[in-house]
Amino acid sequence: MTWTLALHGGAGAIAARVYKHEEDHMAALLEEGAAMLTRGDSALDVVTAMAEALEACGLHQAGKGSAPNAAGDVELDASLMDGATRRAGAVAALRGFLSPVRVARGVMEHTTHVLLVGAGAEAFARTRDFPRVEDPHSYYVAAESGAASAQTGTIGAVARDVQGRLAAATSTGGLQGKLPGRVGDTPIIGAGCWADERAAVSCTGLGEYFMRVNAAADVSARIAYAGARLEDAANAVIEDVRQLGGYGGLIAVDRNGNVAAPFASEGMKRGIATSSGRREVKTFR
Ligand code: ASP
Repeated sequence: MTWTLALHGGAGAIAARVYKHEEDHMAALLEEGAAMLTRGDSALDVVTAMAEALEACGLHQAGKGSAPNAAGDVELDASLMDGATRRAGAVAALRGFLSPVRVARGVMEHTTHVLLVGAGAEAFARTRDFPRVEDPHSYYVAAESGAASAQTGTIGAVARDVQGRLAAATSTGGLQGKLPGRVGDTPIIGAGCWADERAAVSCTGLGEYFMRVNAAADVSARIAYAGARLEDAANAVIEDVRQLGGYGGLIAVDRNGNVAAPFASEGMKRGIATSSGRREVKTFR
């Protein structure tokens, strides 16, 4: 009856700042996730709940804490994937909904599609009655006050449940000041999010680079084709991103419950919990 859970709050952490508030929130959230996994909840339900809570807390560049694009609008991207079934859902450039990851799950469960964007994603979310942001200007307070610490700051969750199923979820406001309509790696299945029977992965960092190395899926591919250990596979993918000139990190868990959280950036807000009692919340090395 073993399980593993990892969360991240983005690789945009900067060394000059203290992230105590974010770390305390993540530690408390890990306990909620631990309780869910202990009572037998599915990895998919747990990563959805964790991502939704991270979106709602306003402490990261996702959901409530998202920063505006170059035109002053907040456009959100999110995705999730269920490793046991390889089903996936995603939304991109979504405006005006509280939980992009919930809408992504709706796309997975209520359509035959994987990814909906822009006006189409919004129309779908409206027909399914997903909660809206009534007043975007006051809701995205962190964005307005410039609280986002760097250009990046996605959130993510990966889990292995007691049945050995893996799942991943990722959500972001994207890069601060991005061009309207810009979509990064976060809602791209394979780039910013991936789960299969080998690994569940959630990425953060400069999305353009993660797309160019198909980062999240490549972790699993290295395990499948090269027989790599999870940690070596994850490190190699982040090294690829770094060598191309990008920065960022990822969290990953494999079917044996191993966990990896490499990053090539100043810091990455992250937390790990396991059924054997491991608890770790850190931002820097
Ligand atoms: N990867 C995200 C993007 O490029 C940003 C981030 O991780 O902070 O949209």
